[in-house]
Amino acid sequence: MNATRAQTRNAPTGSSPFRVEAAALPAEKFSDPLVTAKGEQRASVALTKLDTLWLNTGTLCNLACATCYIESSPTNDALVYLSADHAARFLEEAETIGTREIGFTGGEPFMNPDMLAMLEDSLARGFEALVLTNAMKPMRRHEAALLALRERFGDKLTLRVSLDHHTKEVHEGERGPRSWEPGLDGLRWLSQNGFSIAVAGRLLPDEGEVAARECYAALFEREGIAIDAHDPARLVLFPEMDEDKDIAEITTECWGILGKSPQDIMCASSRMVVHRKGENAPRVVACTLIPYDDGFDLGATLQEASGDVPLNHPHCARFCVLGGASCSA
Ligand code: SF4
Ligand code: SF4
Repeated sequence: MNATRAQTRNAPTGSSPFRVEAAALPAEKFSDPLVTAKGEQRASVALTKLDTLWLNTGTLCNLACATCYIESSPTNDALVYLSADHAARFLEEAETIGTREIGFTGGEPFMNPDMLAMLEDSLARGFEALVLTNAMKPMRRHEAALLALRERFGDKLTLRVSLDHHTKEVHEGERGPRSWEPGLDGLRWLSQNGFSIAVAGRLLPDEGEVAARECYAALFEREGIAIDAHDPARLVLFPEMDEDKDIAEITTECWGILGKSPQDIMCASSRMVVHRKGENAPRVVACTLIPYDDGFDLGATLQEASGDVPLNHPHCARFCVLGGASCSA
């Protein structure tokens, strides 16, 4: 965590319970988009269809989680607030290519003053919408507007709440003190008001998925939260992420060895719009995980950004190919 984030009030003080224990990443890895450090051909992923278009609403967040992949905090505006006008340009383009879903991620999306306008615009155009939120105060300010959207659009709108763990201790170890009760309360409010909801959690290094789902199921039962913890689309459990720790590079041979298809990787079906501070318009990047790396900045329009993505980042290996995660509900 950088100094500014660590100084943030309510930031977690210890190291993350989800930290990756591995050696440092050697500098020669992930340095050439075409070949690996061993000289093998690097794997790439072709866009099969832009099914989910993510709009990054900006990096500002009410929390400063220990291992936030996008380094969000109440002071980090490296990605500025996306405006409703800018978003509309991409929604228009997405309509022409049959995109199904618009995803909103931050930061905390509900801190963006245009969030409700962008959400309504997306739903009114007929897209499904998925909002990633910590369900805390920024979301609670918009209860009336959210209820109105649920009335109009029903289950076309899904809110996915980050509840990093099924215990308060681990959740607050990652997210900071006083983050458990308000998050849980926001999730309960969504559930009791009949929203389509999901939860995003994480696995501790030695925690098996089956056991974790049982514990989440018990928590949901206890708290009156209507989520089937055994449904992987409703409780998404993410693998570890750390771009500074050693991990194997992915070659074209890996697909066969691992029995995986490039079509199942997130960047085969999604892209993300980001507006970087200092730039006069948003850009399109390969995926939600790598907003700052020039090698993953694909263009100014969805059309320009429809080329292949070389898997030239540790997240490609650890999170997507080896961890098997998907970022869509
Ligand atoms: S709530 Fe999400 S965006 Fe905000 S700091 Fe935590 S992980 Fe990052
Ligand atoms: S991190 Fe995953 S989704 Fe993003 S470019 Fe790499 S493989 Fe694709």
